[in-house]
Amino acid sequence: MKHIYFFEDGKSSTFPTSREDALLYKTRFYTSDTPCDANHHHNKRYVINNACHACLVDVGQMIKAAIKGDVDWSNFPQPIINAIDLVIHNNCHVANEPCGYGHLPIRTNTNHCHYCLENRQARQTAEQTGETFYKCNNPCRKCGQRSRRRVKTGSCENCEKQRHSVKSDIQNMMNKSPDLILERKDAKTMGIMVYRTGKPCIHGHYGFRYTSTGGCIDCLKGF
Ligand SMILES: [Zn+2]
Ligand SMILES: [Zn+2]
Ligand SMILES: [Zn+2]
Ligand SMILES: [Zn+2]
Repeated sequence: MKHIYFFEDGKSSTFPTSREDALLYKTRFYTSDTPCDANHHHNKRYVINNACHACLVDVGQMIKAAIKGDVDWSNFPQPIINAIDLVIHNNCHVANEPCGYGHLPIRTNTNHCHYCLENRQARQTAEQTGETFYKCNNPCRKCGQRSRRRVKTGSCENCEKQRHSVKSDIQNMMNKSPDLILERKDAKTMGIMVYRTGKPCIHGHYGFRYTSTGGCIDCLKGF
């Protein structure tokens, strides 16, 4: 079933109307209510890198024109010059439709997106050589960084580090203030990830609970 989304003014949209919503609905695109910087397109944007879809299509056309010698491309940004080079020297061609990951529309002779293929190959090579992480062209959907990815799961190294530091922050706080008394709503207001009411849970634990779910940490640990 096709989902229809709405802007606040009631205007409808094929895609979620903000990047945050798109992350929530796990869609590949969102519709921005502000036009793109480069060409003022009111078009769909890629969630992964905020790229304007219409601009990517335009860049493809520009690359075609550059190769024909119709435009001077000496001042083009480096990624576009590299793309032109791929077409001239590496058997690639320009596609009309960019891939689903917001890459420049450059396809290999097997009609794969060159950049997607590069990511897959980097992961395969890392797997074969027994590396834990591989270098990926795509920014992370969550943190926006181009950090390395775990070969097994594809998870972002930067996000993993952040999750780890949040975990150890929580642990430090529980170690430092084991007798803290704080209502869940106050913990929420203060942005504290755990709270402790001093009242027992249904299994008799007096310890900390997660603010987000209210779940008792001792219960979750199986004590
Ligand atoms: Zn645009
Ligand atoms: Zn791609
Ligand atoms: Zn990340
Ligand atoms: Zn419990």
